[in-house]
Amino acid sequence: MVGRTRTAYCSDVRRLLWLFHRKVCGLCHLQIMEVELGATHIDHRFPFVYGGGEELDNLSLMHARCNLGKGVSVSTSDALDYLEALFSSSRGAS
Ligand SMILES: [Zn+2]
Repeated sequence: MVGRTRTAYCSDVRRLLWLFHRKVCGLCHLQIMEVELGATHIDHRFPFVYGGGEELDNLSLMHARCNLGKGVSVSTSDALDYLEALFSSSRGAS
């Protein structure tokens, strides 16, 4: 994971995530209004610093206050879901 760089997301990715996640914050689950999109943060459910990828399933849109309060953490269920999906996709690829 050394040398990975973070992606700078364009507004189209932000809008795609907003629609994909049904216009709700990935943490508090309250609705994110369209006018708030520019101030949202994109969060890695399985943290980038732990090797989390840029897949749509691993990204969620959050209110800035929610993401800043969350810090770098991952719930056990999110970690297991992510690693299970990663393991399944790598088994299917070989
Ligand atoms: Zn929120």
